[in-house]
Amino acid sequence: MPTDVPASAALFERAQAVTPGGVNSPVRAFNAVGGTPRFITSARGAWLTDADGRDYVDLIGSWGPMLLGHAHPEVQEAVQAAVARGTSYGTPTVPEVELAEEIVARTSVERVRFVSSGTEATMSAIRLARGFTGRDVVVKFAGCYHGHVDALLASAGSGLMTFALPGTPGVPASSTELTLVLPYNDRAAVEQVFAEHGERIACLVTEASPGNMGVVPPEPGFNAFLSEICRRHGALFVSDEVMTGFRVTRQGQWGLDGAVEGWAPDLVTFGKVMGGGFPAAAFGGRAEVMHHLAPEGPVYQAGTLSGNPIATTAGLTTLRLATDDVYAHLDRVATTIREAACAALTGAGVAHVAQSTGTMFSVFLTEGPVRDFDDASRTDTAAYAAFFHSMLDQGVYLPPSAYEAWFVSAAHDERAVQAVLDALPDAARAAAA
Ligand code: PLP
Repeated sequence: MPTDVPASAALFERAQAVTPGGVNSPVRAFNAVGGTPRFITSARGAWLTDADGRDYVDLIGSWGPMLLGHAHPEVQEAVQAAVARGTSYGTPTVPEVELAEEIVARTSVERVRFVSSGTEATMSAIRLARGFTGRDVVVKFAGCYHGHVDALLASAGSGLMTFALPGTPGVPASSTELTLVLPYNDRAAVEQVFAEHGERIACLVTEASPGNMGVVPPEPGFNAFLSEICRRHGALFVSDEVMTGFRVTRQGQWGLDGAVEGWAPDLVTFGKVMGGGFPAAAFGGRAEVMHHLAPEGPVYQAGTLSGNPIATTAGLTTLRLATDDVYAHLDRVATTIREAACAALTGAGVAHVAQSTGTMFSVFLTEGPVRDFDDASRTDTAAYAAFFHSMLDQGVYLPPSAYEAWFVSAAHDERAVQAVLDALPDAARAAAA
């Protein structure tokens, strides 16, 4: 394939010879937009540098974690000091207690257990919900991603009341036959499912504000409604804040709804930002529920590297540096880029809608509003591919998929933002072509 990034192209060829698709997580392969994924060799602040020596403003942020930008000096220093003390002991450590205290102080959870990925966090939260309630059925929403947990890689069956079908080969039907998939933001569907199956439902799990079908915020009061209907039926409300946690506000999505409205989820999952760029994630919740987890209670869950001292040091340092000023900056940068993208697309006559929750946003190339997965699916993916490649050629690395959030960081300064603003008009014209 002719390419102007020969080093990345050569590396991609080598990678494909030893790794399926040449990548270790599918979206990195550019299948949705075509072309050669850039092999990034270093990153600093808001910028990525690839193997061909090209620089890009980063709007992926490692898919969420890099709240402070890359190679933040204080995070680097704390991590290097931690590495010098040894990398894993398999015993309790100080930073995991401190990180747990920080998470408990910021969010609704009273107890927290660390794991190594968001997938593990949601998988464990569901096991705990089932163990706590003694029930089996899990309710989720179409378009919400909770990691590659078998029971949650499910697509809706033929109707609301039918149990789900596996969303991928390799997941047995028996793994999804206790999962019900509903349209997001649809109160009537939730009411119907609880009326029909209420006594069997262990939990309802939802992204606190979905970001994995693009950003589709909950309609006002929707999360409170979910919390209340779960409570009424003795099911647990599991709020997945892996993406939104410590990102959309300092308290996550809960800072925008539960903390204001006076309710709390029973269980919450976290990941991404709380690991500061290392593999760390967590689930937590009400003490009464978390008390059921081993070794206090009977529900088994464990991990060799859970609470790893390097990862928890990186996460703790990141959260301590994530002050109100940081969130105010993220908000300004997100608003500037979002508004400029809309202006450029309007100027080029491209149908679009930008949606956001706190400091997280995405731009759909379709008429809005987008309130569920069906609406999101109408986005013009070919136009997005053209838009994406124009931005990439101009030195801006957007998510290589039309259905992802755009992430900014504390390190997105005037120069980085200006580089994005300068690239948008040409990209919008490419999307219109
Ligand atoms: N939950 C949500 C909301 C996510 O966005 C993701 C990952 O993107 C996950 C869970 C899974 O996290 P991980 O990729 O760390 O397994």
